[in-house]
Amino acid sequence: MNPNILILGAPGAGKGTQSEKIVDEFGVEHVTTGDALRANKQMDISHLDLEYDTPGEYMDQGELVPDEVVNEIVDKALSEADGYVLDGYPRNLDQAEHLSNITDLDVVLYLDVDEDVLVSRLTGRRVCEECGATYHVDFNPPEEEGVCDECGGDLYQREDDSEETARERIRVYDENTQPVVEFYDESGELARIDGEQTPDEVWTDVKATIEDRA
Ligand code: ADP
Ligand code: ADP
Ligand code: ZN
Repeated sequence: MNPNILILGAPGAGKGTQSEKIVDEFGVEHVTTGDALRANKQMDISHLDLEYDTPGEYMDQGELVPDEVVNEIVDKALSEADGYVLDGYPRNLDQAEHLSNITDLDVVLYLDVDEDVLVSRLTGRRVCEECGATYHVDFNPPEEEGVCDECGGDLYQREDDSEETARERIRVYDENTQPVVEFYDESGELARIDGEQTPDEVWTDVKATIEDRA
């Protein structure tokens, strides 16, 4: 059986970057609520009678999409996966409780990155519109500017990677998601990894931790 892996960290900590490598090495599914929601930004959620009628309106402001919407995405994705790396969920304690009711985790990774590093990572991020591979204009540039090394697709900048929205997302993370990190830390499951190393150095630690715990 493939391992069930949770990867935690602030926006820009490197979760997506390391998840790509985990998928290649361990053959698990990449379950990422951010990508799933971006593919469904215009979905009609007006029947839930919440503040906004689509996920996109929350996302463009850097706010969390309501739990009802996100939990359903995770339920479906995890039930279909033979091993996974879960990225972007849980983002608050209610989601963490929901997760504990639907699955068992083998490994909980936390990428530890200082807040002042996060904004420059987010504002320089570029993503492949074809395959989702992640780059950075300075820290991890593609061989040819604007073109994906993996598949030749065009790279784009996410709307919420503006400086203003990036800062708001970090604030929302501190308020809602930092308690989730403490929750797994107190339960003794959390493997803390220095996320300020180079991507290859982070990967060495991530891989060793998964091999050790899974
Ligand atoms: P990053 O990896 O840069 O933190 P994501 O792609 O994970 O960003 O998330 C982008 C946006 O999608 C978030 O700002 C939020 O609006 C929404 N989102 C993603 N995952 C969740 C979640 N688990 N709960 C609520 N909202 C979410
Ligand atoms: P997350 O999914 O946690 O939001 P990403 O994996 O998308 O984070 O990384 C955010 C940005 O930082 C991307 O532009 C990525 O290329 C870059 N990045 C990722 N890991 C590192 C690292 N170890 N050092 C420097 N930049 C990194
Ligand atoms: Zn690509």
